[in-house]
Amino acid sequence: MITVALNASHYLHQSGKRIPTSLLPAGYPELQASEWFFNNRIARYTQEILVQDYGCKVVRCDDVTGETSPTLSARAARANDAKADCFITIDHNAGTSIGNQTGIEIFAKKQADVKSIQLQKTVYEETVKLTGLIGRSNPLPFENWAVLTLAKMPAILCEFGFMNGTKDSKIIITNEFALNCALGIVNALVKIYGLKKIENNEGEIMQIVDELKNRNNVVNAVKSRLAGSPSQAEIDTAIKNNVLEILEYLIVNKTTSAQVMKEYELAKQAGITDGTNYGMPATRLQVALMAYRTMFKPPQP
Ligand SMILES: [Zn+2]
Repeated sequence: MITVALNASHYLHQSGKRIPTSLLPAGYPELQASEWFFNNRIARYTQEILVQDYGCKVVRCDDVTGETSPTLSARAARANDAKADCFITIDHNAGTSIGNQTGIEIFAKKQADVKSIQLQKTVYEETVKLTGLIGRSNPLPFENWAVLTLAKMPAILCEFGFMNGTKDSKIIITNEFALNCALGIVNALVKIYGLKKIENNEGEIMQIVDELKNRNNVVNAVKSRLAGSPSQAEIDTAIKNNVLEILEYLIVNKTTSAQVMKEYELAKQAGITDGTNYGMPATRLQVALMAYRTMFKPPQP
């Protein structure tokens, strides 16, 4: 498992760093034209995918509310303190005049280490593959930006297109572009650090269902639940009568941690569920009832 430091540059209220109003669709919310809004959206997607799908640790070096702007050295310090494996700063280019500037560019510092250069190149390739946003004559420049020189680990700074570009601004405001940039960053990290997708619950449950297609496994599971040494007839009856219970026992035992079961007990005490069928899928009616009980805490009938 690696630790990734993500830095969405600037903050929500920074003047000048935004898509110019004349390039925005009518009625587009002003604050959502801020560069930090776009930087943060890519950072958030990247964080979600890295944590949920790859079990990585992610440290955010900006203020995730967007209300304040930590200094550049404070941002680098957060990455250094977390001993992050890499430090990725997310930006969008902002030129002074509206024009046809276009394309992603990824910076590393001058005389960068091999890993930074590998990050720079791979993040560029993977994000361009998904977004098609090319157009710079030198898309892999080297500059001594403070966040790159202050970082003690491999570090890059990404400029995901031009907010003052007539073509790029239309692309930058879309969720799809942000998600593709995030997926491109993640794909690059998968390649460089050999990240492996974590098994989710669904995968584990399908594995159990597969195991249960073998009757011997079912019999063994039932035997382990029946006291003494049950006869074949008793086992058959138990399977017939308790098939759902057996299934939920297996699913819950294989997929649920002790901590989650403790919380489930608390949920029972709070009246959210009566505790039956705890390993089985819920119907919409059951989900609605549980949500209702959570929100309104009605007296129990
Ligand atoms: Zn910027």
